[in-house]
Amino acid sequence: MKTLLLQEEQIEQAAEIIRNGGLVAMPTETVYGLAADATNGKAVAKIFQAKGRPMDNPLIVHISELSQVRELVREFPEKAQKLAQAFWPGPLTIILPKSDKIPDEVSAGLDTVAVRFPSHPIARKLISLSSPLAAPSANLSGSPSPTTLRHVQKDMDGRIDAILDGGECSVGVESTVITLATEKPRLLRPGGITLEQLRAVIGEVLLDDAVLHPLKSGAQASSPGMKYKHYSPKADVILLKGTEDAFLRFVNQKTDGKTAALCYREETERIQIPYLVLGGKGDYETQANRLFSVLREADEKGYETVYAHCPETEGVGLAVYNRIIRAAGFEVIGLEK
Ligand code: AMP
Ligand code: MG
Repeated sequence: MKTLLLQEEQIEQAAEIIRNGGLVAMPTETVYGLAADATNGKAVAKIFQAKGRPMDNPLIVHISELSQVRELVREFPEKAQKLAQAFWPGPLTIILPKSDKIPDEVSAGLDTVAVRFPSHPIARKLISLSSPLAAPSANLSGSPSPTTLRHVQKDMDGRIDAILDGGECSVGVESTVITLATEKPRLLRPGGITLEQLRAVIGEVLLDDAVLHPLKSGAQASSPGMKYKHYSPKADVILLKGTEDAFLRFVNQKTDGKTAALCYREETERIQIPYLVLGGKGDYETQANRLFSVLREADEKGYETVYAHCPETEGVGLAVYNRIIRAAGFEVIGLEK
């Protein structure tokens, strides 16, 4: 299949592809999404094929007007309304009981649906010209999510109908996912909207175990996507937990040329092996924005092992931690003080 590269002026062509049941990669403020008409089960099934995504991992439905949510869910409770008012349009996904408009391909057989109202103007325009769009990240399943046009082309060229160019994504990690379909609100995936921000608007929000820890064997995932190894470059990623001194001592011994350190800007002066910079130490927004690019860069440079300094878990740092620990397959080495 030839994949068209379309510019914003050609968005009507992209909408037509969607209306005809095709697949279009579109920019959003989080990462690039691979979109299909969310009400067309056959079109949605193609997304799983193009990505190599397991069929039991449900998709997020993207809307361009608040009123559209009412058709997708059975109820829109007060807490959902408050969250929508505070954070939509923006990088927050809310899970609610689904209506019968949602095909099984979208919800992977669950009784719920994940809904997001993105803020990116191109995504919003594409939705308004076609329909609500089911869209996971536009990468091959398991690899780091795409935050630039080049990333999408690398993974999806020849596998989908078109890519809409939208430059670089601003947030850089996927949306925050909260479920309101459980007794108490629960954070399933951290992202650009923080746990602290959610609690400030609706009070108690539980943190799902799978955000920080590997799923216990045999346990059921609240969010099917959390059970898979994710975001992984080909290089082996290992997290190092410890002080800056301990981190530097450890990595500076790894002088085989095939090993790189993933570190904070402040640490670069003292690193003696190849390194990749995540961002400034407390600058979680930049870290989130750069993370997936940097993981892809590790492969482009041919590193076999990447030792990453373990991120903090406050604010947007929780999203960075959640993605790196999955990229590392939960492999963490504790360093002595
Ligand atoms: P992605 O589309 O790749 O950004 O991933 C979407 C994430 O949301 C995955 O982790 C899914 O498992 C999760 N998700 C989507 N829909 C639901 C749902 N109805 N219930 C629980 N998790 C969901
Ligand atoms: Mg994804």
